[in-house]
Amino acid sequence: MTRLVGLRSHAQIAPFRLHQPTTVAEALALQAAHPGAAFMAGGIDLIGRMKWGEVIPDVVHLGSVAGLADIAQDGASLRIGAGATHASIVESRTVAALLPDLAALWPLVANPRIRFAGTLGGNLMAGQAGYDGMPALLALGATLEGATVAGPLRIAAGTLLPPGALLTAALIPAGTWLLADRSLKPAIIAWLGLALAGDRVAAARLGLGAAHATAVGLDLPLAGTPVSALGAAAAEIGAWVAGAVPEPLGDSIASAPYRRRMAGVLARRLLIRAGARGEG
Ligand SMILES: Cc1cc2nc3c(=O)[nH]c(=O)nc-3n(C[C@H](O)[C@H](O)[C@H](O)COP(=O)(O)OP(=O)(O)OC[C@H]3O[C@@H](n4cnc5c(N)ncnc54)[C@H](O)[C@@H]3O)c2cc1C
Repeated sequence: MTRLVGLRSHAQIAPFRLHQPTTVAEALALQAAHPGAAFMAGGIDLIGRMKWGEVIPDVVHLGSVAGLADIAQDGASLRIGAGATHASIVESRTVAALLPDLAALWPLVANPRIRFAGTLGGNLMAGQAGYDGMPALLALGATLEGATVAGPLRIAAGTLLPPGALLTAALIPAGTWLLADRSLKPAIIAWLGLALAGDRVAAARLGLGAAHATAVGLDLPLAGTPVSALGAAAAEIGAWVAGAVPEPLGDSIASAPYRRRMAGVLARRLLIRAGARGEG
């Protein structure tokens, strides 16, 4: 009898051993002990890869690791555990209190089915340039916390974790304003973060996704600018962004010059919106 198997199918998944550690140390030890092993959180990307035929002999499922999905205040920051799902970020009272813009914008990510299973850590570690997690965290000036067999580590968002490292959490300064423009997806997406000191900008950061092989962050020269004056500065800063952004990708979706120009356009739009909010 002829059996039809699609190129991407459950039937393509090669046999694998499933490990279910309950601590970070156990998860790291399992990964180190099994060459070719991969961590799995919600499994959306990982199972997808296995359905395309990628052989992963050992899957280290992180769903039972204690504390990995916790969301909590940490001093002046919000700590989001790598295992927190997109849905739990949207629903968290702590996120709503400390970073209301993040809570309001995160329903933009995917659809309800993906948000209930997919995690922030999986989103960041999937390494997909078009995903929202890394540009948003770049804009927010977040720090990533991880663990390796050699000990814990802390790196700025946007930096790659070493191979074999387990991402444990993202630490985000509370109160940061966050705005997004995803209207030109899949060519380019832009997230703007503004740290404020009173009614002035303390730091302004743009996180760009889908335009480069990995998300790119730009610190905007706006420190000290009154928030209400951001609209007036938007055209000049937009032009600065178009010049300062590293050379974007050129592919079948958009050319590099188009992406460069649109990086400036999206920055300008976001600053106009932030300025209007500052006036209100
Ligand atoms: C239809 C659809 C629409 C989508 N739309 C959007 C969108 O609009 N915006 C957006 O940003 N994303 C979008 N996504 C992507 C989605 O957000 C990610 O697929 C999801 O967040 C991945 O999380 P996961 O927990 O399932 O990751 P997994 O599949 O479990 O893991 C992904 C990768 O990360 C590694 N990993 C997972 N957790 C850790 C950890 N703690 N430490 C180290 N490595 C780890 C795994 O080994 C694997 O390599 C979409 C996906 C789909 C299918």
